[in-house]
This record gives sequence, C-alpha cells and structure tokens, in this order.
Amino acid sequence: MLQDQYQRVHDYLRISLTDSCNFRCNYCMPDEDIQSMPNAHLMQADEIEIIAKKFVDLGVKKIRLTGGEPLVRKEFPQIIQTLSKLPVELTISSNGVLIDKHLNALKAAGIKKVNISLDTLNRESFRKLTNRDQFEKVWENINLLLENKFRVKINVVALNGIIEKEILDFVALTKDLPLHVRFIEFMPFAGNLWNKDKVLTAAKMLEMVKKEFKVSKLKDEPNDTAKAYQAEAHLGTFAFITTMSEHFCGTCNRMRITADGKMKNCLFGKDEMDILGALREGKDIEPLIRLSVRNKHAALGGQFTQDYTKAEADKIENRSMIKIGG
Ligand code: SAM
Ligand code: SF4
Repeated sequence: MLQDQYQRVHDYLRISLTDSCNFRCNYCMPDEDIQSMPNAHLMQADEIEIIAKKFVDLGVKKIRLTGGEPLVRKEFPQIIQTLSKLPVELTISSNGVLIDKHLNALKAAGIKKVNISLDTLNRESFRKLTNRDQFEKVWENINLLLENKFRVKINVVALNGIIEKEILDFVALTKDLPLHVRFIEFMPFAGNLWNKDKVLTAAKMLEMVKKEFKVSKLKDEPNDTAKAYQAEAHLGTFAFITTMSEHFCGTCNRMRITADGKMKNCLFGKDEMDILGALREGKDIEPLIRLSVRNKHAALGGQFTQDYTKAEADKIENRSMIKIGG
C-alpha cells in the first residue's frame, strides 16, 4: 500500500504516454513553439509495463493513460493491450480525434470508460481554442463511443469569457445523450497565461444552470474530484471540478508518471522522482516510489493556497500541462 504522511492511500496512477499532441489548446501548451521529447527519452512500451506492474503490486487499482494526446503514441495499441492484462481499471483521456482509428484496440483491451476533452460545441470557437478545425470529427467520435456503449465523460475547461455562452448548451446535451459533462476550473501551469480573472468558479456556473434547469445533487464517491449534478429527466449528468475554488486534496489518491518517466506526486508539485532513470540503471524503483508518495504536500503541491485569487502563476514552479500529463 502507498500511504503518505497524511494517511492518504494512493491507488490511482495516471501515465502520460507522450508529450506530443495533434491539437494546440492554448490553455494547455506554452505560448512559444513547443518541442516534443525525443523518443529515446520516453518510457518505451516494455518500460511502461514494468513500471505499471510495480505500481499495481504496491496497491494501484486504477490506471489512466493520458498525455499529450495518448492516441498519437505509435505503440498505443500494444501498450493498452499489455496493460489490460493487469488487475486494474484501465481508462484513457483523449481529445477524441483519433478514437475511430483506435476503437477496436480500446474494445479489445476491455476499456469501458473514456474521457474526451471538448470545450465548446461551436465549430469556430473549437478551431480557435485548439488551433485545429476538427469539431465534426470529435463530435462523430463521441457518438461512436456512445453507440459502442462506452461511458463517456466530456471534460470542458471553464474559461471565463468563453464558456458562459455554452454552459447551458452543454447541460442541455445531457437531456437525450447519456454523457457526463465535467466543467473544470481553469488551472495555472507554466506558460498558460493563467490569471484569476480567467477562472469561472463552479459556484457561478451552478447558479447559471439553476436559473434554467431544475437540478439535483448526486452522491459523490470518496475520491471523486468532481461534484456531480443531474438536471431533471436528463439521461446524462454534469459536474464541476473545483480545483481552484474548493480543492479536494484531503482525499487525493492520485500519482502521475510523465512521458519521460518522472513521478509526480501532485499535479501542482514541482518535485519529480526519476523512476525511468533508476529503472534504466537497474535499480529497484520501489523505494523511490514510496519516498515520492511520503513527501507529498498536504495541498496544491505546496505552491499556492485555498484562496486562488492570490495565486501568482509566474512564481509557480512546474511543467506545462502537456508535459505533465493531465
Ligand atoms: N489530450 C488529452 C485530452 O485533451 O484530454 C489528454 C491530456 S489533457 C492535458 C488532459 C485534460 O487536462 C484535458 O481534459 C484538458 O482539457 C485538461 N487541461 C489542460 N490544461 C488545463 C488547465 N490549464 N486547466 C484545467 N484543465 C486543463
Ligand atoms: Fe492536446 Fe489535450 Fe493539451 Fe489539448 S488539452 S493541447 S488536446 S494535450
């Protein structure tokens, strides 16, 4: 079991397969031209398997593959097939554009749940946010996942000034489609031009939704990061991930491995443990994993406080989101 100094048991691992992406979401990537890591720096398929197995031996029950865009990793089908043999719940986060290409691999690996990022339902806004004209393809692929009985969560980054116009449209979407929309408060990472005025809080969004829909609160599970609701007579649900306005660090069970094999015990933490380097030197990685978990800060990587309006984005030491693995 992996337990930190605050008695939090860590049983959920997010593995980034790549820091490359076929989209250019401006809240995720630094403004300047981003260089992807050379292949030799990435965990190779066999190394991912060894590292994942070690975490499972230490009590991990759920693994999410992320990135960058995990589906652009050439060996994705092979990696997911191998990991599907481990006794864990396996899921992925994707921008959705390559889902049709990998549908059979997802099914063969027994994947049941997929998170798709989609910040707008408007083609032109989509093009501006992602720098790619792929709204239709992503929307088709979301429907393809539903037709194939996947449980689909839609991740919407709640950018103040952009999302307000669409919150009600996203909730309306859950009337006839069994989609689970999650509005994520905009978080600060290196180079993403975060400032407090760009954060639209869950409380404000809920107020907007309640003016239009009759909603009820759903029960959240202990380690859930989202606070879930359902509009009356809707098939799907909606939820808020309140990282900025009301963090949920007290029940955090998550750890991350970056595509270059560095363990991060917190999304916002600057500390990294070189798991891949140790593995390549033939060392035992277990003590490093345990040390990383033990050293985890109580909240928000120790880099800012509950009052997000006081966060100073340029003083936070961290990677950009695309290089962490969201
Ligand atoms: N490419 C995949 C995708 O877009 O889902 C996986 C990686 S992406 C980094 C994972 C998630 O992080 C996405 O849902 C994305 O919207 C979210 N994300 C990226 N930057 C963010 C930020 N600054 N604040 C909140 N969420 C962010
Ligand atoms: Fe790529 Fe996902 Fe980041 Fe968008 S949010 S740039 S799709 S990794």
